[in-house]
Amino acid sequence: KVRTRFAPSPTGYMHVGNLRTALYTWLIARSHDGTFILRIEDTDQSRQVEGAVDVIYRTMAECGLTHDEGPDVGGPVAPYIQSQRRDTYGKYARLLVEKGGAYYCFCEKTESEEDSGEFDRAADPCRELTAQQVQEKLEAGLPYVIRQRIPAGTTTFHDAIFGDITVDNSTLDDQVLLKRDGLPTYNFANVIDDHLMGITHVVRGSEYLASAPKYNLLYEAFGWEVPTYVHCSPVMRDAQNKMSKRHGDPSYEDLKAEGYLTEAILNYVALLGWSPKGELAEQELFTLPELVKAFDMTGISKSPAIFDRQKLDHFNAVYLRGMAPEAFAKAAEPYIRQTVTDPRFDTAAIAALLQARCEKLTDIPEKVDFFDALPEYPVDYYTNKKSKTNPDVSRAMLEAVIPVLEGLTEWTDEAIHDALVDLAQRLEVKNATLMWPVRIAAAGKLVTPGGAVEICRILGKDETLRRLNAGLA
Ligand code: GLU
Repeated sequence: KVRTRFAPSPTGYMHVGNLRTALYTWLIARSHDGTFILRIEDTDQSRQVEGAVDVIYRTMAECGLTHDEGPDVGGPVAPYIQSQRRDTYGKYARLLVEKGGAYYCFCEKTESEEDSGEFDRAADPCRELTAQQVQEKLEAGLPYVIRQRIPAGTTTFHDAIFGDITVDNSTLDDQVLLKRDGLPTYNFANVIDDHLMGITHVVRGSEYLASAPKYNLLYEAFGWEVPTYVHCSPVMRDAQNKMSKRHGDPSYEDLKAEGYLTEAILNYVALLGWSPKGELAEQELFTLPELVKAFDMTGISKSPAIFDRQKLDHFNAVYLRGMAPEAFAKAAEPYIRQTVTDPRFDTAAIAALLQARCEKLTDIPEKVDFFDALPEYPVDYYTNKKSKTNPDVSRAMLEAVIPVLEGLTEWTDEAIHDALVDLAQRLEVKNATLMWPVRIAAAGKLVTPGGAVEICRILGKDETLRRLNAGLA
C-alpha cells in the first residue's frame, strides 16, 4: 500500500517548488489509492518562523491537497512533528551504533565545523574506539555526537526519475546523526521518520540527491527496506537561477495576492516538470481529479522547469473564463470595488463585461476605474480611422444621439442598441461611427471592457447623458 509524505520545514513560505512537490506527492498517493501524510520537519529550531505551520495548512487546504495523517488530524504513527519525536531519534542512533552503522565521536568540534561537512574521517580516532573505551568516556560524562560510519566501497541507489546512481563512498562524510544536545540532524530524523511512518515513496527536491547515498547506507545499516526515491528537478526563474524567496520570486500566497486562481496555479504547477502521456499528451487543462487519473510519476522530467509567468497568465485567463458567471462575479467584486465605489453601478453587471477580458483579478481595478471617475481624455481619442470618426464627426454624432437616448423609456442593452443602430441608419453612417464617440464620451478610454451599449447601460441613463453632454464641451 502506497504511503507518501510531504515534509516541509516551517520556514513561513510555500514557494512554487514546494507546492509542486506537495502536489506530486499527493498525486502519487491518490492515484494509487494510498495514504498521504503531512509531517512537519522542525529539527532546525533556528529556522523556525512564527505562524509558518499555518501557512502550510492553509495552502494545502486551499489547494485541496488533503492529508490523511498529520499533526492536526493524528494517525497511527503519531506524532507527526519532529520536535515531538525527539526520544525516538536517540534510541535509533544508539541502535545503529550497535549495528555498526554509527559511532560515538568525542572530538571537540564546533557545530559550524560539523555543519560544514568537512570532516576528516581518517584523522578521527573515535572511529576506532573499542566498546570499552566508549563506555568509559560515556561514564566520564564527556559530550559526544553520534556519527554515521560510512563503509569503504561504493553505494548504488535507484531513483524513479534519475535511474541508478553510484557513488564512491570516499566522497561521503561521516555525518553527524545525533548532536551534542541529543537532537537529531535533519538527515537522520528524515530517514528514521520515513521508515517508522512506512513511507513507500520519498518525493523531494533534487537538491537532496547528493544526500541520498547516505540515506541509503542508513537504511541498509538498519536492515530496513529502502523506499522508492522520486527526486524532482528544481523550478527555475530563468535558465541559470532557481526560484528563490531571496530573489523575490513569488510564493503560493504571493501568487494568490496577485490575482491568480488556486485552480490555475495548481494546473500550471502540475505541468512544471511533469507531462501527461499517451492520448492525454496534448492536454493542458487538468482539474485536480483529472490529474489524479492522468498522473504517472514516469512523466516527471529530469530537466529543470522554468517558471513562465505568461503561461501562468494564460492558464489563469482560461480558468477565469471557465467560471460560472456568479462565481466570477463574486471573485471579481472586491477587485471591482477597489475603483468602483459608486453604489449606482452594479458589480455583477461590470463583472459580466470583464470575465472574458482579464488574465488576473488584479487587472480589474484599472480596467473599470472610469465608472467612478471619468478620466480626462484628449480630444484625439475621438479620431478613429476604422470607425470613420474625428472630433467634428463625433460632435455631430453626440448631438444627434443625446435626444434619442433622452427619449428612451427603457434602459436595457436591447433598447439602447436598437436606438443607436436606428439612428445610425437614419444618419446614413456606419454603426461604428456612432458607437465610437458614444463609448469615448462615456468612458474616456480607448480600451474598455464592453462596448458603448453595455457601458451606457451600466452607467444608467442620467450618468450617460451627463457624460455625453460633457463630451460636447
Ligand atoms: N524538510 C525538507 C524540506 O523542506 C523536506 C525534504 C524531504 O522531503 O525529504 O526541504
